[in-house]
Amino acid sequence: MVLKGKILLIEDEQVMAIALRDGLESENYAVEVASDGVNGLKLATGNTFDLLILDVMLPKLSGLDVCKQLRAAGNEVPIIMLTARGQELDKVIGLRSGADDYITKPFSLLELLARIEAVMRRTSKPSEPLETYEFGDIWLDFRKHDARRNNQPLELSPREFRILQFLISHRGEVVTRDQLLDQVWSYDSFPMTRTVDTHIAKLRQKIEDAPNNPRYLVTIHGVGYKFIG
Ligand code: CA
Repeated sequence: MVLKGKILLIEDEQVMAIALRDGLESENYAVEVASDGVNGLKLATGNTFDLLILDVMLPKLSGLDVCKQLRAAGNEVPIIMLTARGQELDKVIGLRSGADDYITKPFSLLELLARIEAVMRRTSKPSEPLETYEFGDIWLDFRKHDARRNNQPLELSPREFRILQFLISHRGEVVTRDQLLDQVWSYDSFPMTRTVDTHIAKLRQKIEDAPNNPRYLVTIHGVGYKFIG
C-alpha cells in the first residue's frame, strides 16, 4: 500500500470529520483532524502536509483566517475549502485568501477525491533539487555526496547530507523535528525526536566553528531548527 499523501482536515462538525477521515484513509491518505481554527493553524504550521481540507465556518479562528495566516507566513500547502450551500461570497473570498479550490457541502467522497487529486496534480511542482551549496568554509555537492571544509575532504554520512539538504532547501525557515523525521527518516523506522537532536549535534561538530554557539545550524527553542547561511 502506497501512501498517497498526508492530509490535514480542519472541520468542527464531528460526524462530517469522522466520515471524511475514514473515507480518505480508505483511499490511502494519512489524515489528521483538527476541530477548530486555532488548533488547525498550529498543526498546519508545525508539520508538513500535502494538502489541507479547511472548513470555512470554524470555532476560534475562521477557515478564511487560517488560510490567510498560512499564506502570509509563506506556507504554500494546497488548500481546499469547504463551504456551505449558498455561501457564494465565501467561495470568492476563499479563493482570494489563497485557497486553491473549494467544494460546496453537501458533496460526495468521490467528488472530494477528484478535487484532491486535481489540486495535488496542479500544485505539485517538481522542486529543483539542490545540487551544490557553499557557506562559510564549507562546500557541498549533494549529487556526488562530496563535502569539503577549507578545501579538505569532510566526512558526512548519507543521513547528514540529507539533513543538510533539507535544512538548506528551507534556509531561513524554521524546520520542526517532525518535518525532519518525515523527510530524512522513513515512516517505518520510528525514530525519536531525540535522534534528530543527536544528529544535529554531530553535524555542528563538523560544520560549525563554534559547535556550542552555532552560527549556521541554529536551534529555535521549542520548535526545531533553522539554517542560516
Ligand atoms: Ca463548520
